Amino acid sequence: VSDGADTAQRREVSVFVRIRPTANFAHGLIECLPDGKLQDSKKGQLSSWSFRLEGVLQDVSQEEVYARVCQPVVQGALDGYNGTVMCFGQTGAGKTYTMTGSTESYKQRGIIPRALQEVFREVEKRTEHSISVHLSYLEIYNETLVDLLSPLQDSPQRPPRGMVVMEEPGRGVFIRDLSLHPVHSEEAALSLLFEGEMNRIIGSHAMNRNSSRSHCIFTLHIESRSQILSDAKYIASKLNLVDLAGSERLGKTGSEGQILKEATYINKSLSFLEQAILALADHRRDHVPFRQTKLTHALKDSLGGNCNTVLVANVYGEAAHIEETLSTLRFASRMK
Ligand code: ADP
Ligand code: MG
Repeated sequence: VSDGADTAQRREVSVFVRIRPTANFAHGLIECLPDGKLQDSKKGQLSSWSFRLEGVLQDVSQEEVYARVCQPVVQGALDGYNGTVMCFGQTGAGKTYTMTGSTESYKQRGIIPRALQEVFREVEKRTEHSISVHLSYLEIYNETLVDLLSPLQDSPQRPPRGMVVMEEPGRGVFIRDLSLHPVHSEEAALSLLFEGEMNRIIGSHAMNRNSSRSHCIFTLHIESRSQILSDAKYIASKLNLVDLAGSERLGKTGSEGQILKEATYINKSLSFLEQAILALADHRRDHVPFRQTKLTHALKDSLGGNCNTVLVANVYGEAAHIEETLSTLRFASRMK
């Protein structure tokens, strides 16, 4: 039992499902019914499942997704609360579209560019505070840390340097040797995001790996100090925007070598992510297994507790993907 103050501070994990629009009606669609049930309308035969979720995002614009999923977390971060927004789901279901968006049109930009825009608007508005923003962009591939904003570290010519997840009293969790870039404008931030995206693609080609097999954590490090009150406290927070590796299971038939290794690492990190979130939600548990994987360790001070945590479960609209969709939704609803 916790007292009132503690309850007020404790924030729940919000979970949304986003259904990718489809033009392929041949094999039936996933539909969301008004009572919150999902339905597979395959060839006249109806089956339905219900899951406990915060909201269903179907036929919803990027703008509305941002407003419902991320805006409150950005506002929280500016007020000093760490936050994490994560996209989870099988490859192709729309995680990167949700997080980064499509370069095809301005309207299709995703959560990260919109969050950057809002943060710099707020920096202008909150004139009574001096706010500084630093960015970092970390990729985790097979438990190896890659700095997407310092590509030399990961080039085949030079071995990766020793990036390590560290913790220090007063400083919290940080990644030693991960580059932190000061940014003073939305434009400068967007060009770093773009650079990181390019490095993600270049790196995956150079190292011959599929970019959907890694987790990417784009972090805004925000520091705010009052300009008016000299004794006002200094506030530091982190906002992590996370594009998780594809959650699909391997086919039963002979996966081996690199593919098997990647899948094993992904399963392990996603299952420890689940355990960490569940343990945080369970007030009786005092040990939370954060250090088991790089993903949970890196997010340790930005999940649960008084942090804002949001999970978007991305699923296909086609009923042909129903098995993976159900497994994604089971994972998502266990987080509630
Ligand atoms: P993931 O990152 O989960 O593997 P992507 O985000 O790359 O999946 O999405 C796969 C494809 O589907 C991309 O071409 C993307 O632009 C498109 N897509 C995904 N979600 C949507 C959406 N809500 N609206 C329009 N196109 C989408
Ligand atoms: Mg992707």
